[in-house]
Amino acid sequence: SQAALHQAQKMEAIGQLTGGVAHDFNNVLQIIGGNLQLLKLIGGVNDNARARIDTALAGVERGARLAAHLLAFARRQPLQAVVIDPSVALTEMEDMLRRVLGPQAEIVTDIGPRLWSTAVDPSQLHNVILNLAINARDAMPNGGTLTLRARNVPQGSPQLAEVGDVDYVMIEVADTGKGMPPEVLQRAFEPFFTTKPTGQGTGLGLSMAYGFVKQSGGEILLKSSPGEGTSVRIFLRRSSQAPAHDDDAAVTALFGGV
Ligand code: ADP
Repeated sequence: SQAALHQAQKMEAIGQLTGGVAHDFNNVLQIIGGNLQLLKLIGGVNDNARARIDTALAGVERGARLAAHLLAFARRQPLQAVVIDPSVALTEMEDMLRRVLGPQAEIVTDIGPRLWSTAVDPSQLHNVILNLAINARDAMPNGGTLTLRARNVPQGSPQLAEVGDVDYVMIEVADTGKGMPPEVLQRAFEPFFTTKPTGQGTGLGLSMAYGFVKQSGGEILLKSSPGEGTSVRIFLRRSSQAPAHDDDAAVTALFGGV
């Protein structure tokens, strides 16, 4: 539709702009960080100075993480895609979900049988699900249910009308939280768009999810109704290859992430 086209063009333009800024910003941070590291090695640096250098380095690291999120949104971050079995990857995230959601929320995992394999960067997929879980937690301050669902969605399925007609593995994170009014829903993927208090939200969670999914050749759909809850559905293309061995995935998770 016209509205969807306009939205896609807007996201493309924001991506171009943020990608350029984040890239340059990151280069500046690398220069600052590298020199701070060198300073620490120089003789005669006392403990007080060393502590200040460490504080500055922590700031550089935080900036680098923000830049990485922006680059993920702008699709300029190299992904280390490997063929994974989504049911294995998602099952491994259950502990993380529990930690993020805390004791008062219920977690339901509903991972379909014999899921197709898909080629993604496992550490980035982990980051995305983590960010979605944080959003679900923030939307359910008085408790509720987070559902992590995964299904094969074969070509020809009616629910593919909005995303393109190929074989997909669908991963959904749904919550029973406060939901989003239309004006928030419309801007939710924009980098730096947040309704959370300063210090609590960066506005980068959904934008990096968007960038990750697009760069992986997939689609992302956001549905939300105020007072009822929110669902984020990620459609990843079916891979014809068998999943890589766990060892390979572990190596990528260790060295491929940010
Ligand atoms: P952040 O979480 O740092 O604000 P995001 O990009 O992840 O950044 O989300 C942008 C905004 O979208 C949030 O501030 C919030 O208003 C809204 N939002 C995202 N996820 C949810 C959710 N599960 N329920 C309700 N609102 C949400």
